[in-house]
Amino acid sequence: MPKALVNRSIEEIIIVYSAIIMAITITPFAFFRFVNGQHIVAAIELLSVFMMAGMGMYVWKTRNVKYMKVVISVFMLTGLVVFNYLLGSSILFWLYPIIMTTYFLNNLKVSATLVTIASIALIPLLVQQKTTIEVISIVITMVICQLFGFLLSKKIRQQYLIMEELANLDGLTGASNRRAFEERIEFLHNFSARHKRGSESTVSLIIFDIDNFKMINDEYGHLEGDSILIKLTELFKTKIRGIDQLYRYGGEEFVVIANGADTLKATELAEKMRILLEESDISEHTKVTASFGVAELQKHEKPHRWIERADNAMYRAKRAGRNRVFMANFDPVNKEFSYNTNVHDIRSQSIK
Ligand code: GH3
Ligand code: MG
Ligand code: MG
Repeated sequence: MPKALVNRSIEEIIIVYSAIIMAITITPFAFFRFVNGQHIVAAIELLSVFMMAGMGMYVWKTRNVKYMKVVISVFMLTGLVVFNYLLGSSILFWLYPIIMTTYFLNNLKVSATLVTIASIALIPLLVQQKTTIEVISIVITMVICQLFGFLLSKKIRQQYLIMEELANLDGLTGASNRRAFEERIEFLHNFSARHKRGSESTVSLIIFDIDNFKMINDEYGHLEGDSILIKLTELFKTKIRGIDQLYRYGGEEFVVIANGADTLKATELAEKMRILLEESDISEHTKVTASFGVAELQKHEKPHRWIERADNAMYRAKRAGRNRVFMANFDPVNKEFSYNTNVHDIRSQSIK
């Protein structure tokens, strides 16, 4: 591949190559027709070459293919239909590469719609100019070409979804990773800022960190440490309902996004998790525990502040002796974040 194309997306390459191929193949025909007195057709052909070159240059310069993909597909299919009516169905074979290009550039729905419209528009011409056998052959090959375009596009989409899913998973534990977590809390922050307070936008973070993990690694080996991380993920995912959103935040620190849960509900969930872990036998050598911090998302609260509050609560749990749940509170009167200031703390202290 030429050096200039290395960092380009497949869509950009297809569009730029299509413009170049059109210029090389159509321009000589346009001159030939001009010399033979077919001035109007020659002018339309040259205009198409210029338009396609303009679109190709736009994509090359801006790298913006979002709308150009559809515009160029419509342009090529319309051009094909128009030229077939102008010049007779002798240039019908261009339909096949254009069908494939359309499927490469667009999603299934858009491609199938555009190609079907163009194919239907060509049928009256074919019926007029071709024998019945030829029309049947052309329709069958068009359908086959469309079917392959369809299947290819579907396969590419499936592979993209698998890659996207893998990119969001932590390689060791299979929990969602930090990238997925950051995307999710950004979404939740925007959602909560746009909506009135209510059960829909109520959401809490539960951050937890395994206690004395360094010591476990040092005493029983890194592999035992890894196995604990894997089993802990499995334990929470299978035993606690509603923990579909478990993320590995880094090292031995995990996060749960508790949708629809206010501070108290999330604290109850965290306490359930704490007990489950404490009573589990995920290591045959030692008891594994964790310290938990809980924070409910406040209206307009920035994601990093939300995480920070949950993290601070978790560190308070560590300082208080580990293997316990602490919640972060928001003081609406002083408009500042504070801890140990209201009735919730009575509960938080009573949890372990
Ligand atoms: P605390 O109770 O205060 O959290 O103490 P800690 O020992 O758990 O915390 P510290 O941050 O001192 O140690 C974390 C350890 O976690 C150190 C690092 O080697 C270990 N760790 C981080 N990621 C992995 C991993 O993927 N596998 C294993 N086996 N260990 C890991
Ligand atoms: Mg730790
Ligand atoms: Mg840690």
